[in-house]
Amino acid sequence: MENIVCKFGGTSMADGNVISRVKKIVEADAERRYVVVSAPGKRYGADVKITDLLYAAVNAAKDGDVATFEKNYSKISERFIGILKELNCSAEFTEEITADLAEIKNRIVSEKEEDYAASRGEFLAAKIMARLLAVPFVDAVEIIFFNADGTLCEKTYEAVYARLRNVKRAVIPGFYGRGADGRVKTFSRGGGDITGAVIAAGARASLYENWTDVSGFYACDPKIVSSPQRISSLSYAELRELSYMGASVLHSESVFPVRAAGIPIHILNTFRPEEKGTKIVAAHSEKTDGGVVTGIAGKKGFTVITLEKSLMNAEIGFAAKVLTAVAEEGIPLEHMPSGIDTLSVVLESSRLAGGVKERLIEKIKKETHTERVFLHENISLIATVGHGLRGCIGASARLFKALADEGISVITIDQGSSELNIIVGVEDRDCDRAIAAIYRAFFSATA
Ligand code: ADP
Ligand code: ASP
Ligand code: MG
Repeated sequence: MENIVCKFGGTSMADGNVISRVKKIVEADAERRYVVVSAPGKRYGADVKITDLLYAAVNAAKDGDVATFEKNYSKISERFIGILKELNCSAEFTEEITADLAEIKNRIVSEKEEDYAASRGEFLAAKIMARLLAVPFVDAVEIIFFNADGTLCEKTYEAVYARLRNVKRAVIPGFYGRGADGRVKTFSRGGGDITGAVIAAGARASLYENWTDVSGFYACDPKIVSSPQRISSLSYAELRELSYMGASVLHSESVFPVRAAGIPIHILNTFRPEEKGTKIVAAHSEKTDGGVVTGIAGKKGFTVITLEKSLMNAEIGFAAKVLTAVAEEGIPLEHMPSGIDTLSVVLESSRLAGGVKERLIEKIKKETHTERVFLHENISLIATVGHGLRGCIGASARLFKALADEGISVITIDQGSSELNIIVGVEDRDCDRAIAAIYRAFFSATA
């Protein structure tokens, strides 16, 4: 018998109607044993996610802005009470959730802890889901643990296994666990996907189903190209590249727990459960879609610092000096494209705010004795990903021709020796156009 962990994202928990769909999906298969849920997300474009309301409320509490706190918290309470009504929950359960909402409100006001506040959307959503399915609610703080440096603690997997081993079915809230100091701690935004992967690995699941509002992983963001091709199957490595570079359908860190355990991920649509979705597996792309490229994703908001110095290539330790300066500022390096006498570092612009950029440039100039240092801001990185790129002659030419035909200037180029991806840097304003052009170049013949 299979042991399936299924995670339902915010759009799948947005109101009573869709929550009833979730119940149907879970109950349709006895092998769907552990259910991980997100906080209610948006019901329509201009709606606000519960998690965003919780952040707004705790920030208002920190600022002592009582009116804004009350306004946001009322919206949160109304959303949950509305969901209980839509689901025809009993008076006794409605009272229980009302009491929870009052207690959470008091704690946010008195403790003003961001992670605790943000986590309460999934806490309440999971309690409601557990009641609806008539199965136990297992709080994530009992089984998911973080180290003091914020990384996931290895003991989590054993704790999940021990807690769930004899539990036939359970609902677990996504997005948070217990920090090293004993307090609630969250993953980064969208981290419900990571919880699902961790529960799947800990519970030794045979499959991790990730239910969302699209019918799988598409070759690019459907907000950029309408109805892009669905990818029927991709590898963990391709998933990691695409999700890291902005394909937000799955959190990029959710790949690690399942990859280590060899558990496939299946992305499915809560609103169209009959559709095939996308399978994510270990095997190098069994490219059923027949193309060279599996997918394209892009991310805005990078800064490129370029150094030019004659005979840089002959200078031992040049790159090390640049990287040390970057590391000393605590900034992760995204990419490092280089030429013979030029070297660039690509960094996230948000990490360079508050005087960091100026300090870093000074340090780099001083340590490397380079005067010619150029800055290029508002850069997007676009990754064109696929195992099919390996050894494929002409793929780069196709990509660059597509960008040239659109009149888009390429600022950086980076291709890893794994040949899994080609990353180009373009101006932020060209980002979406560049993704669409690359998509057309590789997919229009088969779309
Ligand atoms: P959930 O609430 O289920 O966690 P998310 O909003 O986090 O859902 O992720 C689903 C969304 O990801 C889709 O609605 C879509 O707009 C977006 N998305 C971005 N890139 C892609 C892609 N390549 N394929 C599918 N969806 C994508
Ligand atoms: N609710 C959290 C967020 O909005 C986590 C998640 O949805 O996965 O980021
Ligand atoms: Mg998500």
